Parts: sequence; C-alpha cells; structure tokens
Amino acid sequence: MHGVGVSAGIAIGRAHLVSHALLEVAHYDVRPELLDFEVNRFEQAVTTVREELSSIRQSLPNNAPAEMGAFVDTHLMILSDGSLSQMPKSIIREESCNAEWALKQQMDTLVEQFEAIEDVYLRERKFDVVQVVERVIKALLGHPNQAALAEQESGMILVAHDLSPADAIQFKQHQFAAFITDVGGATSHTAILARSLNIPSIVALSHARNLIQDGEMIIVDGQQGVVIVGPDKDTLAEYKLRQEQWEIDQQKLKRIKQTAAVTLDGAAIELHANIEIPQDIVQTKAAGATGIGLYRTEFLFMNRRDWPDEDEQFEAYRKVAHAMKGLPVTIRTLDIGADKQVNPDSERTVTNPALGLRAIRLCLAEPQMFHAHLRAILRASNYGKVKILIPMLCNLAELKQALQAIERAKQSLKDDNIGFDAKVPVGGMIEIPAAALGAELFARHLDFLSIGTNDLIQYTLAIDRTDGEVAHLYNPLHPAVLQLVEMTIRAANKAKKEISVCGEMAGDVRLTRMLLGFGLRQFSMHPAHILAVKRQVLNTELSKIESLVRKILASNEPEKTELLLSKLNA
Ligand code: PEP
Ligand code: MG
Repeated sequence: MHGVGVSAGIAIGRAHLVSHALLEVAHYDVRPELLDFEVNRFEQAVTTVREELSSIRQSLPNNAPAEMGAFVDTHLMILSDGSLSQMPKSIIREESCNAEWALKQQMDTLVEQFEAIEDVYLRERKFDVVQVVERVIKALLGHPNQAALAEQESGMILVAHDLSPADAIQFKQHQFAAFITDVGGATSHTAILARSLNIPSIVALSHARNLIQDGEMIIVDGQQGVVIVGPDKDTLAEYKLRQEQWEIDQQKLKRIKQTAAVTLDGAAIELHANIEIPQDIVQTKAAGATGIGLYRTEFLFMNRRDWPDEDEQFEAYRKVAHAMKGLPVTIRTLDIGADKQVNPDSERTVTNPALGLRAIRLCLAEPQMFHAHLRAILRASNYGKVKILIPMLCNLAELKQALQAIERAKQSLKDDNIGFDAKVPVGGMIEIPAAALGAELFARHLDFLSIGTNDLIQYTLAIDRTDGEVAHLYNPLHPAVLQLVEMTIRAANKAKKEISVCGEMAGDVRLTRMLLGFGLRQFSMHPAHILAVKRQVLNTELSKIESLVRKILASNEPEKTELLLSKLNA
C-alpha cells in the first residue's frame, strides 16, 4: 500500500487496529438463569476499566501535562457514578438483555440528558461519558486496552482510519513501533505529532484500516511511504537489513551532536527545535539543538473543556525557558482553529476552518484569554531567553493590535510588580502569501520573522494540508512557493532582521542546501531531523551552490527542478 510517509524509519510488527467499539454493540436476549452471570460480567468490565484508568493515572510521569491527569480523573469519576456503574445492571434484569446493550441504552439516556443542559461546559461532558462507555464495552468484548497492548508487545503498529491531533497527543504516552492512517496530509498537525513520537508513520493510505487485519504482520517504511502487509521471508529479511542500516546511520549521526553547525566555508548556522509540550525538551537536548525556534503552545489547550489559566500556562512555559539554560526559546502565541480544534466535538461547523477564526485572529477576538496567555509567556521570560512569535499575521492592523496587546500585558505585570524581560523580542510568522509579499513591511515592525512553510504552501497552492486526496499536489518545490520563501528571506536579511524557517521544509534534508542558498541561516525543525540537517550543513560549501540554487529558483518545470535539486545534493 502506498501513502505519504511523514516520519522516516522502518518498523516491522503486528497491526493493532484502533476500533470503534460502539459500532460493534450487539443486542440479544439473556435467559433468566443467566442474568446473574450477565450482571457479573458487567461488574467485572467496570472493575477492569477502573483498574486500567487508575493504572494510567499512576503511570503518568511527573512532568506530564496537567490536562492528562485531569482527563483521566474525570473519566474515573464518571465511571464511579451510579448512573453508569449501577443503572445498566437494572436494565439487564428488567429487559433480560446483554450487558453491552444495557450499557448502550443507558448511555443514550445520559447523552440525551446532557444535551438538554444549557451550560456549554456541562453539556460537553457527554463526550466523556461516551468515551468511558467505549472503554467498558471494549472490556466486555474482550478488547484489551491500547496501553496494555503496547506494553505486551513493543512491535505494535497502530492502524487507524484517522487520528485527531488531540488523539495523537495522547498516543505520545504509549510505545507504538509505527503508526499509519487512511487519511491526512504530510504536514497536518496529526502528522507533525506523529513525527514527534519519533516513530515511522504514514498517512493517506486510503483503505489500510479496512484491509489490514488485527494482528497481521506488517512492514512500515516511513521514508518511502510504503506499507507491506503479510511480507514473505525474503522481503522480511531485506527490510530487517534496511532497518539495521537505518539504525546504524542514526547512531553515526549522534557523533556530530556536539559539533557546531558550520558550512565548509565557515558560515555558522542555527539549528533549532520545534516542540509541542515541555517533555519534548529531552529530545531537543539529545539532538543538540541550539534553541527552540517554535514552541506550539496550543497543545496545552487540547483534550480539555476549559482554557488553562495563567498560572498553569506560566508553569509550562517557565519549565521550557528554564530547561534551555539561556538558549533562545521562541514561544508562539496560541494557534488554535483550523485542524487544531480545541474541542473536536464542537457542534459549530465552519465551511473553511483553515480560512476562519484561527491563531492571532482568534486571540484578538478573545482579549481576556489572550491577555492571560501573554502574561504567562512574559512571566516565563524572567527564567530564560524567551522570544514571542505571532502566528498567521496577514495585515498591519492585526500586527499593531497584537503589539498593543503585548504592551498591555507588560503594563499589567509592571502594575502587579511581577518581573519579565522588558526587551523580549517579538517576531511574526510568515505563512500567508499576503504576509510573504509584505515581508519587508512586517520586518520593519518586528524583531524577527519565521516562515511557516506548512501553511504557506497550503494557502499559496490552495491545498488543504490535512486532505490525503490532494496530498500529491502539496508541493514545497512549486515555483510560487520557492519564490515566496526566497523573497521573505531576502527581505528580512536586507532589513537585518533574524529570519528562520520553522515549517516542515526546514527539516527536509533534501532542501537544506537550497534554503542555505536562499540566504537562510536559521532552521527550526522537529528534533529528530536536526542531526541529519547538520550533517548536510557540514558538507556544504556556500560558494559552490549559488549558481545551481539560482537555476532552481528560475525553473518552472517540475522535472527540471527535481533534476537540479538532485544535482545540488550530489
Ligand atoms: C507552519 O505553518 O509552517 C508552522 C510551522 O505552523 P503549524 O505547522 O503549527 O501551523
Ligand atoms: Mg502554521
């Protein structure tokens, strides 16, 4: 099967299908003499789930985001409630039906009650009820839970139709060998998270979830985007060899961890990391990153129904600032919306969420939330070298409003006698074509720029970055994209403002030389790519690549561009 490889490496293991237990609920009559047994079966399933949840609760590392603990606690509470743990037993007896059906009936009643509640927060607890019921039904059907499975067999490969970024952040807790999905694009946020799991992953496989059987042996080649189902002996042997070679290469790369990233002709290059949660610092340090170029703060806001308050945010940002010991930590202000819905179950449907109330637009529309967010970031600036990055800027009015909001947050901290770095640099993301065309203007008002190529490609080419059906058209080498990227780098360099690329293009080793040739000296990427990009930097002589890079920029034919790029990398 062919899909889009989003995280390299080779995994060989057994498929574990992510199932939707609720779809499998059967309804059958239970004979009177077996009703006690049925009730008992239900009680045991509840106990199993209680133990599962308690064990997840206990095994959360101390530094796990607070929302994970709160999430499990809520589920434990729902499970203990009589309406869920007792009522189904009466239904089993009254209706002489099986436990799954009784529980499903009771769930429908509860969901209906929740739906009638006016308070949005309480109304949305219905989704937690459904998730808990799913777990109990899985226990009744004898499906072991995913975490337990992952422990049993480390070679487990997760096969899902789709995973939301919120699902993926939870999977960060478990040890899967690889993960593959039917839908999704290479730079969807789910794919980015998959990459941060540092395991091979492939998206846009179309029918993997239906065609692959649970427990079937599969090979996942994340580099090629290929899944081999039920490999024969020879194929298996070949991939085992490739897997070993890949691992040897990864080991070799570790030797350059401490080496400064300098080109053969002496240009110093900054290689920064993109992170999503404070725990990513471990991988960031292991890769020898010289800073954090993009901290995606929105992940603290996911898998929960409330906004994290200022103190909770501050704690997370402070942790990162402190851990980086004076190296730059670029904290991006909240970029929710589009495919990163805080509440994926929200009933509000928007026709074009990627063009909607997202990122800075949403922050400016929610001034109180934005104020607390900015205060938390500014407070963290007292504990390290924090920089603020504003996403999705499109026009000057927006930029000015954002700068005013930062000033207001600074003033309120001063009034409260709370310390922060008064000179904290403020930068903007260039990820909308309009912003790239106006890069010169943005550079004038900001301390630094950072190009978000994931969105820049999406908006330039009108290709939804999350849509597997158009994934083949998502092309970082499209001449329009290259021109916008080069133009932005040139504008920033001319204005003598720092410029980096923090989209996925920065971590693609095939593009390193081209970006160096465009004048880029700062890259920010997932930590897993840093050492490979560094190796490429160490092997590059800027003076030798110039003319080929000019030719790539001038090329309008895809085949020619590819050919020139291969030449550049030879
Ligand atoms: C980008 O758009 O390139 C980017 C880095 O931001 P995100 O992927 O979080 O949208
Ligand atoms: Mg973006």
